[in-house]
Amino acid sequence: MAEAALFDTFARAPLRFERGEGVWLVTESGERYLDFGAGIAVNSLGYGHPHLVGALKAQADKVWHTSNLFEQPGQETLSRRLADNSFADKVFFTNSGAEALECAIKTARRYQFVKGHPERFHIVTFEGAFHGRTLATIAAGGQAKYLEGFGPKVEGFDQVPFGDMDALKAAITDATAAILIEPIQGEGGIRPVPKEFLAALRQICDDNGLLLIFDEVQTGVGRTGKLFAYEWTGVSPDIMALAKGIGGGFPLGACLATAEAASGMTAGTHGTTYGGNPLAMAVGNAVLDVILGDGFLENVRDVTLVLRQGLASLKDRFPNVIEDIRGEGLLLGVKAKVPAGDLVAAMRGEHMLAVPAGDNVVRLLPPLTVTAEEAREGLSRIEKAAEKLSASEMKKSA
Ligand SMILES: *Cc1c(COP(=O)(O)O)cnc(C)c1O
Repeated sequence: MAEAALFDTFARAPLRFERGEGVWLVTESGERYLDFGAGIAVNSLGYGHPHLVGALKAQADKVWHTSNLFEQPGQETLSRRLADNSFADKVFFTNSGAEALECAIKTARRYQFVKGHPERFHIVTFEGAFHGRTLATIAAGGQAKYLEGFGPKVEGFDQVPFGDMDALKAAITDATAAILIEPIQGEGGIRPVPKEFLAALRQICDDNGLLLIFDEVQTGVGRTGKLFAYEWTGVSPDIMALAKGIGGGFPLGACLATAEAASGMTAGTHGTTYGGNPLAMAVGNAVLDVILGDGFLENVRDVTLVLRQGLASLKDRFPNVIEDIRGEGLLLGVKAKVPAGDLVAAMRGEHMLAVPAGDNVVRLLPPLTVTAEEAREGLSRIEKAAEKLSASEMKKSA
């Protein structure tokens, strides 16, 4: 095996996957792992989904990329479908979540600019947020560990404590353009924002001429049992960023906006070389075919109940391992009593994958195609992992 020549930016688990089938990943040596990480909420339809594979292969035989110098029939179709199924009128396609957020931020700033308020470019964000790793999105996320050493923080992001309405009101000035929030913080530890809080943000935006931006990169596209998480809250944004699940594993993101919010994004103001290319659109449209299909989201909600019930009983049985269960749909967080990394490792020992998050939480984000039977299989593996951890905790305290 050749020695790798990679940046040292990732602390990778020593597993080498060769292929996948449904909710299973298979290593080079043929070991099967039950995947409740789904490539960090990306593989919304699991591995080798025939409709996705078929769409990608069919498009691969036609044309991969033509650039945005030309009309893009796939973008026209997918944007129409996203708009018809959301608050939005307009869509810009990107290759990633961070780029979708960059577009959202630029859209909000341009909106204020064309409304005669160039001084309004500040965006209020919340502690614990994650919006990506570009220079602007690390400034928006505000986490010191991601900002350190990369020069001055991009100007115009004002952060307030999670859920703190007084601090939020105090942070809004004549220079504020928008409020940016994840309806459920993902990386921050599956922290749902109460809908009353989101409704209050909506009101504040309306009263002050600000735009409300939702980052649904992790929560969107069926993850919570509705197409978008905001549908649970009764609050609609003006702008929304999507990525992860929308491409089912193909790099794809999108920035959605009302016509009003997008009014500053005129020809030449923004662009992308790859964004929305024919391969990406073939896959994105195929993902929506399945997720918008009859009964699909209902099934996500049904399997969620199985998982939640099982997790609640594991929490009761292993209170020294599991402190709390939270989240919505198949975006579940297990707040651990032991270090979250230990729980992820113990689950990996049972050949099950999950993803750690902030606030000592283990994220369970299986493919949305997971069956009730597979959910029960996952629960029994978490049970075994918790049993081992619980026994060693008891030994420690004895
Ligand atoms: C993953 C994520 C991003 C960044 O997406 P990338 O594709 O990694 O750039 C932004 N916001 C949220 C909420 C995310 O979960």
